[in-house]
Amino acid sequence: MSPNNIKQRSLHQLSITELNAGLRNKDFSSVELTQHFIERIERLDTRFNSFISTCSEQALAAANYADQQLANGNAGILCGIPIAHKDLFCTNGIRTSCGSKMLDNFVPPYDATIVENCSNAGAVVLGKTNMDEFAMGSSNENSFYGPSVNPWGENCVPGGSSGGSAAAVAAQLVPAATASDTGGSIRQPASFCGVTGLKPTYGRVSRWGMVAYASSLDQAGPITKNAEDAATMLNVLASFDKKDSTSIDEPKPDYTATLDQPLNGLRIGIPKEYFSDGIDPEVAKLTQEAISFYETLGASIKEVSLPHTQLAVPAYYVIAPAECSANLSRFDGVRYGYRCENPTDLEDLYKRSRAEGFGEEVKRRILVGAYALSAGYYDAYYRKAQQVRRLIKQDFDTVFKDVDLIASPTAPTPAFGLGEKTKDPVSMYLEDIYTLPVNLAGLPAISIPCGLTQQNKPVGLQLIGNYFSEALLLNSAHKFQQATDFHQQTAPNID
Ligand code: GLN
Repeated sequence: MSPNNIKQRSLHQLSITELNAGLRNKDFSSVELTQHFIERIERLDTRFNSFISTCSEQALAAANYADQQLANGNAGILCGIPIAHKDLFCTNGIRTSCGSKMLDNFVPPYDATIVENCSNAGAVVLGKTNMDEFAMGSSNENSFYGPSVNPWGENCVPGGSSGGSAAAVAAQLVPAATASDTGGSIRQPASFCGVTGLKPTYGRVSRWGMVAYASSLDQAGPITKNAEDAATMLNVLASFDKKDSTSIDEPKPDYTATLDQPLNGLRIGIPKEYFSDGIDPEVAKLTQEAISFYETLGASIKEVSLPHTQLAVPAYYVIAPAECSANLSRFDGVRYGYRCENPTDLEDLYKRSRAEGFGEEVKRRILVGAYALSAGYYDAYYRKAQQVRRLIKQDFDTVFKDVDLIASPTAPTPAFGLGEKTKDPVSMYLEDIYTLPVNLAGLPAISIPCGLTQQNKPVGLQLIGNYFSEALLLNSAHKFQQATDFHQQTAPNID
């Protein structure tokens, strides 16, 4: 992209790579850029509700500092680039609500490791994005702050739980945002909002300072305009962290260095179970076309089988609630977070603080999880679900002996209507069928836009890789994006 071309476009249309070039070329300053996005958020986010909190003053101070670093030639990878953090990453001095009344008043005294990594790279934090309460949900409708709304259709959900991050990037209120994915929460909203979302291998990115939902599944990653920006973000987010016992001390490649590798000889598997009952025909058609397009890029395609796919939803919806029931026991109204008025005694304090502080879906999961872990049912439910988890991982291990990547739809449907599934939790859970197996196995995966339905709703293609194959995933996504323009299509009426 030549600097001239950058000058012809509005700042919010530019990718991180383009913004980096513009900043270093002095086409604009970080303060100008930051002001531009602050103005857009103020003007447009009343429609999308994608931010829970903004921090304009701190952002402008950070932008000012970034401009000095740029002038000194001291600039980090994200120097002066505005970003947003999902509201479950602790941010020193900035409220971190996790989409919950329980943490509505919580201002952390420290930064999560990934927040620190972004700040060390020079990023400017514009605010915290909306999400389903404690990251539990597939539509963002479980947020205490009201749902975020999909920029592609204002009666549609943006997906969840990182709906705010995806909507904010799709509405061009921020060039990139962090998110988290326990069962699909980066990829499914990215798919619904027509943006790129990367869920790294479990352990690649530190979970320290991220409010825990289901610790053996949670993983942080970026939502961006394209795969190249996702690579830049992953370069910053990924780090070994002694403070997270599941962080892995693996060498970190430069994820931007291999984006242009040719895909000749790449072997892609299509799981036959992912194109069966329940898939929307337009989603099936668009993802199949995208997969076929990979043949023109030099890849070979073959059908594969992941026979335990149907067990992923029931296994996940035992394991994740079990872990959440343990993780959320810390919210007791004593140490921090919501406390009920006038408790009569300690037990009343615990009970009412939790009853009043948590929303319906969070309570449902705590109940399911505590039940599945209880003495009489542990073997029947929890242990069984862990055994199924092992089978799902083995399915992937077998398939990755024959192929390099697996391709599928990210979600069985395009974005659905606000309120359409709220009365039926099971139909909401089924939305996660193609994303959950990846978390149960701890694998990395990316969702990239692969077309629009006739009703102008984005559809995402999911690419799943073997452990620590993020570089290959990003390379494969980038080559596709160089040859197509699905990722450049923008939501209507956001100018
Ligand atoms: N939709 C899934 C759930 O509700 C996944 C959420 C997530 O990845 N945080 O649990």
